[in-house]
Amino acid sequence: MKAHDGMYIDGAWRDADGRDAIDVVNPADGQVIGQVPAGTALDVDTAVRAARAALPGWSATPPAERAARLSALRDVLVARKDEIAETITAELGSPLKFSQAVHAAAPIAVAGSYAELAATYAFEEKVGNSVVHHEPIGVVGAITPWNYPLHQIVAKVAPALAAGCTIVLKPAEDTPLTAQLFAEAVHEAGVPAGVFNLVTGLGPVAGQALAEHPGVDLVSFTGSTAVGRRIGAAAGAAVKRVALELGGKSANVILPSADLAKAVNVGVANVMSNSGQTCSAWTRMLVHRDQYDEAVALAAEAAAKYGDRIGPLVNAKQQERVRGYIEKGVAEGARLVAGGPEAPREEGCYVSPTVFADVTEDMTIAQEEIFGPVLSILRYDDEEEALRIANGTVYGLAGAVWAGDEAEAVAFARRMDTGQVDINGGRFNPLAPSGGYKQSGVGRELGLHGLTEYLQTKSLQF
Ligand code: NAD
Repeated sequence: MKAHDGMYIDGAWRDADGRDAIDVVNPADGQVIGQVPAGTALDVDTAVRAARAALPGWSATPPAERAARLSALRDVLVARKDEIAETITAELGSPLKFSQAVHAAAPIAVAGSYAELAATYAFEEKVGNSVVHHEPIGVVGAITPWNYPLHQIVAKVAPALAAGCTIVLKPAEDTPLTAQLFAEAVHEAGVPAGVFNLVTGLGPVAGQALAEHPGVDLVSFTGSTAVGRRIGAAAGAAVKRVALELGGKSANVILPSADLAKAVNVGVANVMSNSGQTCSAWTRMLVHRDQYDEAVALAAEAAAKYGDRIGPLVNAKQQERVRGYIEKGVAEGARLVAGGPEAPREEGCYVSPTVFADVTEDMTIAQEEIFGPVLSILRYDDEEEALRIANGTVYGLAGAVWAGDEAEAVAFARRMDTGQVDINGGRFNPLAPSGGYKQSGVGRELGLHGLTEYLQTKSLQF
């Protein structure tokens, strides 16, 4: 894999301040596939200064021109989609087909949606005797995780560019090659120097320096709740905008009238996809007691089929963490019906697709985000109990409801404390807002709602 040994700052690849480097490891075989520089606070400062210097020019650029750059960026992502998919497969470990169909394709759709929104959004509106201008917030510090490495970058950078903001990105240490490829794409798309800047590095060093930099006006973070809480606190103390996309423990509620086999099979696929490393995964399946045994049997059968089809986890630490959760599930009395804590292969960071039955609400595996291919199946007696269980975690990111009648599913979904619900297997919509209720986060990404996160209003009265 090609790796740059510098930072992309002010339109060029520049030497990093320090000499430390981060090894990029392929989790399928443990091979080092590249090295990127570990940025320091000085690198972050240089990047923020470049972003600040570029702000007056970019924020004054007509929206149509910003739309043209986004459209060009989309085209570069299309032209380089195979390289993107291969890079993500190499550093994240996801199967190539999944990298092509999801990791490379979703960012193309999102970049395209913001090219359109930049061109059509009313950045100026009349309200009575006022004209309200929607102006960019300023310099954005974007901190992203590794699980959907390009999607999470584009979900922040594209709306920020559309809004007229300038950006410093600190990507996850496990997937920096994808971020470097993205920086090349931004450059090729003709985005002016300083508008987008990339600093690779460690979270507690480069990430923290970016989150705390006084020259950053908005911090947009996706990752763990623990880090998000600290970033939110620092932003609060500095009276600075913050957007947080954190964890989830989403419920897949199968009502008695649903097509049980379909709901279970789609539910298992949802959890196993990306080896379970999806913040919005439906990791708790809720089934009525009369259908419980049948659902468990179907889920165990479906999970067994995934044996060889899922990739490894991103690194050895995540593999250990997930296996620890599986051991905890067994220790707390849940019943393993597929998979288990033993590594399925000697080489690579693999975890077996795992399904637990007889999971009760109080168990750790029913409450905490595992971030691996592990499904917990819970039993409910009636709809009220299903709702109480569905809403009974600190999270509220996503979810699903299945019922024979769509209106019945919608009525249930409306009572769920969560930011997104898929009805009878509804498809991903790149224009629909995504984000959390409760401790799953603050703010929304994607579509129009994602754009307004990067805008602030100014009212002029006449
Ligand atoms: P993390 O929160 O440690 O890392 C996310 C990003 O934050 C990375 O770029 C990291 O370098 C940076 N970071 C880390 N410490 C920082 C700090 N002190 N200040 C500023 N930035 C910092 O998450 P992780 O270790 O990659 O994953 C751990 C867990 O987080 C996962 O198991 C999962 O539960 C959760 N997670 C959630 C999502 C999501 O999409 N909601 C994505 C990835 C991980």
